[in-house]
Amino acid sequence: MSENKNLVEGATGSWEIVLGLEIHAQVLSDAKLFSSAPTKFGAEQNTQVSLVDAAMPGMLPVINEECVRKAVRTGLGIKSKINLRSVFDRKNYFYPDLPQGYQISQFKYPIVGEGEIEIDLKGGATKRIGIERLHLEQDAGKSIHDQHPSLSYVDLNRSGVALMEIVSKPDMRSSEEAQAYVKKVRAILRYLGTCDGNMEEGSLRADVNVSVRRPGEPLGTRCEIKNVNSIRFIGQAIEHEARRQIDVLEDGGSVRLETRLFDPKKGVTRAMRSKEEAHDYRYFPDPDLLPLVISQEMVDALAADLPELPDEKKARFVREYGLSPYDAGVLVSEKVSAAFFESVASECDPKLAANWVTGEFFGALRKAGATIETSPVSAKQLGELINLISDDTLSGRIAKDVFEIMFETSDDAAKIVEERGLRQVTDLGAIEKVIDEIIAANPDKVEQVKAKPKLMGWFVGQVMKATGGKANPSSVNGLLSKKLGL
Ligand code: MN
Repeated sequence: MSENKNLVEGATGSWEIVLGLEIHAQVLSDAKLFSSAPTKFGAEQNTQVSLVDAAMPGMLPVINEECVRKAVRTGLGIKSKINLRSVFDRKNYFYPDLPQGYQISQFKYPIVGEGEIEIDLKGGATKRIGIERLHLEQDAGKSIHDQHPSLSYVDLNRSGVALMEIVSKPDMRSSEEAQAYVKKVRAILRYLGTCDGNMEEGSLRADVNVSVRRPGEPLGTRCEIKNVNSIRFIGQAIEHEARRQIDVLEDGGSVRLETRLFDPKKGVTRAMRSKEEAHDYRYFPDPDLLPLVISQEMVDALAADLPELPDEKKARFVREYGLSPYDAGVLVSEKVSAAFFESVASECDPKLAANWVTGEFFGALRKAGATIETSPVSAKQLGELINLISDDTLSGRIAKDVFEIMFETSDDAAKIVEERGLRQVTDLGAIEKVIDEIIAANPDKVEQVKAKPKLMGWFVGQVMKATGGKANPSSVNGLLSKKLGL
């Protein structure tokens, strides 16, 4: 895709948007990064806090090996370099929801280094986005400002929960690319089972770095929009922030390096604080923790245990089932959709299965606010319906009606077809009779169609109407051409 397509027009010429993302992904783990306190979402406030998480004096952090494994598994999944030696540092800052007065994070020596992922864009295009690093760190607690008129409360349930911070290179050039990036990272995490990816529960949040520049010029000053928690908001935040920066620059001003917040109700970003530089945090190695050293054998074992990831699955769907890259991309974007498609395709023609799953089936789920898990139509039932099209029992159009009834009643297609007499008419004699009647009743149209063969569509429509849509379309077309002498 040419980058020029992404340029944004300002009053004084065009601008390029430059985006880099930091994704915080909560590690799927029953215990925290350095304590054994549980991590269940939605638990009562301050019921999942160990003495370590509350930063009582003299407590010592102990690394949770499961979180290390999941970080390495994720690093392998995003095709990144695994560092056998990494170091936990203290990132010092004061905030009421951070009882330690510092966050244990990784700075100079992260557990995962550079890599890349491929994102899927409209129309089947792809683009590679560089990964800068992935490091492990603790989450903070949560200040609660809306439960008392003059006091704030703090909930430390999240304090010490393991996060993977995945930092991209500034390789994205539009909100569409940034959204595609988050979707892809989320899909990979879910395939790997290292993060549940639930943005509405805060297990996946994105900090978006936005800057603008004239095409070909060096990078501009960036603003970081913190903790955006939905794909839609990421798009809105970028659009608004880029426009704001362009306006500032075109008015002769300069963009200030700062941290901003996105307000979803107003659709705008606003300044939160001026951005700290790394040296402001006085990073230093945590003296309570030895450098983290892992073995190549452990990495190899984790690599051997990787599941089939979205890109590989997509390639296989194209190769094995003959799907278009676009359809394959849609199907693999969620692990459950890919699995559903494969079980439909095991029953019937795979290409028809892909059309039906991405078309009627997803459409019906969306309309009903349902998910694959709660779908009233099972993969087996959908496969059976598709087979009724393949063996000419149903026309494609009637099959859509049958599907609608299946979706309402959960009945099998065969039962609905029998009960309602929807079997397609393939009896040539019966179709011929209908055609003869229509031809006899419309001599004027017969004259017209001889001059203008396109009008045959009108005759097809009449036959379908007369047969309640049940006539086999290819028989109708064949017989009509013959009878009308086309
Ligand atoms: Mn972080």
